[in-house]
Formats: sequence, C-alpha cells, structure tokens
Amino acid sequence: MSWNFQEIQETIRREAAQIADLKDLEAFRVKYLGRKGLVQDIYASLATLPHEQRPVVGKGANDLKNDVSSIVEERTKAIKARQARDPGEDIDVTTPGVTVPPGHRHILTQTVDDICGMFERLGFVVQEGPEIETEFNNFTALNIPVDHPSRDAFDTFYLELPDPDRPGRYQLLRSHTSPAQIRVMQKYQPPFGVIVPGRVYRPDAVDASHSFMFHQIEGLLVNEDVKFSDLKGLLTVFCRRFFGEKIKMRFRPHFFPFTEPSAEVDISCYICDGKGCSVCRRKGWLEIMGCGMVHPKVFVAAGYPAGKYTGLAFGLGVERIAMLKHGIQDIRLFFENDVRFLEQF
Ligand SMILES: [Zn+2]
Repeated sequence: MSWNFQEIQETIRREAAQIADLKDLEAFRVKYLGRKGLVQDIYASLATLPHEQRPVVGKGANDLKNDVSSIVEERTKAIKARQARDPGEDIDVTTPGVTVPPGHRHILTQTVDDICGMFERLGFVVQEGPEIETEFNNFTALNIPVDHPSRDAFDTFYLELPDPDRPGRYQLLRSHTSPAQIRVMQKYQPPFGVIVPGRVYRPDAVDASHSFMFHQIEGLLVNEDVKFSDLKGLLTVFCRRFFGEKIKMRFRPHFFPFTEPSAEVDISCYICDGKGCSVCRRKGWLEIMGCGMVHPKVFVAAGYPAGKYTGLAFGLGVERIAMLKHGIQDIRLFFENDVRFLEQF
C-alpha cells in the first residue's frame, strides 16, 4: 500500500474550503481522524510496509493528523464566533452594498457615433486609418508640397520610424484624417463613399479652444459624375438632421490644397436663430466644417487615371461640433476625465 501525501493534503485543503457549518466540520473530522478514518488506515498499513518506508509514511500520517486537527480547531472557533454574533442569520442583509455606477460612452464617442451613424444611413461606410502616417499620405499626396507654407501649421510630431516612401525621413502623427482618403483610394475602386473618424495631432498650445490632439471626421465620395450640388445636398441633409430642420446654411469660398473648389460651411446659429448671441460671437453664423471637390492631383497621387473620376470631400472637428451642440465652453473638459462633467452627457 502506498500513500500520496501531496494529493491527500490537496484534497484536505479543497474540502476545508467548502466547510460551511458545524455539521460539515464534523463530517470532515470523522473522515480523516475518526476510528475508521484515513489517518487510522495509514497507521494500520505501516505493519505491511518494508522497514525503510515506515518512518516516512509514519511521519506523513502524523502531519496529516496535526493539519486536520488544527483546521478543525480553527474552523470550530470561527463558526461559533459567527453564530454568536448573529445566531439566526449568517448574512447581514442591512449592510449597504458596494455600488458600481453604470458607465456610458464619452461625449466625444457619442458625437462620433451620431455623426457616423447619420452618414451610414446615407450609404457611407466607416473606415479607419492609422494615426502614424507617412509624409506622402499626410502632405504630398494631398497636394501639400514639401515647401508649401500651409505645411508649417501642421508640420507636427515626427517619430523615430523611417518613412518607407522617403529614405532618410521619418513618419509622423497625422495632422488630419485626410490621409485616409489616399489609403481608401489605393485600396478601393469607385464608386464608394466612406466616413473616417479618428484622432489627429497638431503643434498647438493648449487653451480653451485648442488642443495638441483632437478628433476629426473625414468624408469622401468618389464616382464618375459627382458634382458640387451633390456635396451641397449631402451636407444640407446632414446639418439639418444633426442641428435641426430650421437651420439655414451657407457655403463660403475657401482654400484647401486637396480640394478645388473648396468651401467652408456655416450654419445659422440655432441658439439665437441668426440674430447674434455669445455662442456665435454676434455673427448669427457658426462655422462647422470644410469641404470641396477632390483636387485632380489627389486622384493622380492615389493612382487613379487622370480625369476619370470626380469626388467630394469634407472634414469636421468633433470637439467643435460637440461644443457647439452642447454649449461646452472649454475643449480641455473633454480630456480631464472629471466625472462631474462627463456625467452630464
Ligand atoms: Zn447665436
């Protein structure tokens, strides 16, 4: 007869952990220490063992006996103490519970989901691009040449990651979501409409309306016969659904390197109805996004045949839209993780 003391000890520990009351405890004691218990069985087997094994097995049996005895002693005390505190009830149902407040989506995530959802219902597909980009995708392919002055405002956080397109140069954190246009065009053939949300990075000092990191949503629709009227119609539908059917819109000519013609989109202030208030700075209009028709050079940079396709593109700042919609005065509030602020939305 041989005894696996390690296995027996493990069984004892497992069973001891399940003892709930004095009845369980007595059954446990009898199983190991009773007259027909395991420890007695081991002692009885000693006589049948070879001489050299007897001391080892004898010691093992003694250890088991001591261990079980001390478990029985400890648990008896613990169970009796508990019964003395509350003889009828083991659980105090009046103790206040631990509250776990339900979480919810961050206001910026809600805004991104709302905007993307609206464009999805119009047939757009959500795509994402990487936050680390090549200079080609972030600038050059978007018709922003290396020496162009408009690059200065965006020339941003470079990383120690070699640029696969330009030996000796490095990749950077994207300064806008527009490089996703290039990636999408390299991957898909028109017609398509995509909407691309994501984080962007700029070398801006942080204040109430600036942050070195913020969120943009980029839209791109490409086909053989997309017109500026399609762009106006699409953005009008979006703005009315998002800000309310009553708002008026205007498209102001503007310059973006990657669209031609380009425009900035204003909506009539939905707070003062265009009369002028502090939110619209007495102008009656709110600037909400940039847009335009995709520049032919961008199509060529993405590898499309020259002149074959036309497209519309637009981009908006998620923080700005959320601030306008909810009357939030300071962009820093989005990122401070103050629950008192976040709980309001
Ligand atoms: Zn106003």
